[in-house]
Amino acid sequence: MATMAAEKVEMTLRHVEDGFVERLQATLAARGVEPAALDRVLAGEPLVRTLRLLDSRGAILYPRAVSDADRAVARRLAAAALAGRGAPGRRTIVLDGERWIVVTVSARAADTLLAAFAYDADVLRRDVLAASLASLESATIFVVVDEQGRPVWAPASLDGAERLLSVAFRDALPNWQLAVYQPAGNAPREAVRRQVTIFMAAFVVLCAVIVAGIAVTWRLMRRETEMARLKSDFVANVSHDLKTPLSVIRMFGETLEMGRVSDEPRRQEYYRVITREAERLSRLIDNVLDFSRIESGRRRYDIVPTAVEPLVRETLEAFAYPLAQQAFKVEVTIAPDLPEVPMDPEAVGQALANLVDNAIKYSAEDRVLTVQAHVDGDDLVLVVADHGIGIPRAEQVRIFDKFYRAGRSETQGRRGSGVGLALVRHVAEAHGGSVTVVSAPGEGSRFILRLPLAERGAHGDA
Ligand code: ADP
Repeated sequence: MATMAAEKVEMTLRHVEDGFVERLQATLAARGVEPAALDRVLAGEPLVRTLRLLDSRGAILYPRAVSDADRAVARRLAAAALAGRGAPGRRTIVLDGERWIVVTVSARAADTLLAAFAYDADVLRRDVLAASLASLESATIFVVVDEQGRPVWAPASLDGAERLLSVAFRDALPNWQLAVYQPAGNAPREAVRRQVTIFMAAFVVLCAVIVAGIAVTWRLMRRETEMARLKSDFVANVSHDLKTPLSVIRMFGETLEMGRVSDEPRRQEYYRVITREAERLSRLIDNVLDFSRIESGRRRYDIVPTAVEPLVRETLEAFAYPLAQQAFKVEVTIAPDLPEVPMDPEAVGQALANLVDNAIKYSAEDRVLTVQAHVDGDDLVLVVADHGIGIPRAEQVRIFDKFYRAGRSETQGRRGSGVGLALVRHVAEAHGGSVTVVSAPGEGSRFILRLPLAERGAHGDA
């Protein structure tokens, strides 16, 4: 682009110059060295400031009035122009800082003459350089510099600009150059630095995304593996849970069938065992079925105003036998005049049964079961507490997750599927309530089920 721009300047200059020389030649051919005619030629070309016509020895034929200094310059010009190889076609000669263009012309009565002319610097800048270069659409700045590297013409300030390259003009402006500058702030080094910064930032972001992706994938994988393990444990636990009561029922049933048990109280005892184990089986199956309904989003709650005391007592009734058999101290405190509370009695009864079942299951030597029902603010509060093995703090949040069973070695000896508390939480939340636990290992646990006295829950479906 710089080469083309230099070419353009050259062509513009040549065009003006050729026109001038042509007019000069025509005038000389027609009128000879006639000052008035030559004055007109000179006046007709603003780019040419000074014109001299010289004979071959350097004597000035035009203009007439010249100083001694002009004569001396003219002699030197002629000598330089004719030095070496006879008459010049066109030559640029620099004398005392002035650029002269010397061409050969011929006049009517004379031999070959030399026409020496110098440009008007302002017109050169305005009509040639600016006209050729100012319109160039470029992010860079084109500047014309003289032989000493000083800018002759520049379209804009060069403060802070960085010189990229320069191209020499050919014959029209010998020793001058067209320099290309990068404006301040646009220097290629700066652009490269900027690009490097952008690239580095993008690289860092990319790395961060990759690391985050790996971390998320790793967490997901861990969760999936854990879930798969919990599910397989669940199947094993449920199967085991189903098998135990079934074998008890079968054994006692077979014993009774053989008619070997003659004494009535023992027979009654066997019947009770069979009933209790069948109840346990039903509870387990209900839990699993409900859990699967919740998982598939099909669990519906039928909310009706329900008396609290009968619900609590009926639930406890179902555990009368194991409680008595294991010599539990049972403390039931139900606040008098409890209002009817909107709830799905079956679901809440099942949740309460799960809590009582756990209290029995996870009790050690100190067998105490506390059940309380009272109103606190806008909530009915049902508390089921024991003096059992307790739950470590770190696990207290997770025990409400499906399939999760705390302290595996502790719970190992105890039946369980890990869905009981998940169900309790679902029932509580479906009623717009909550379930929480206060517990310490070795001291027992206190489960608190809160249900709103007025309906506000997201009940209806799971
Ligand atoms: P599970 O069928 O194992 O009892 P749950 O969902 O009912 O499943 O309970 C989850 C876990 O919470 C249990 O495995 C047990 O570790 C712990 N847990 C629940 N209730 C109690 C309690 N009353 N005392 C101590 N630990 C309990």
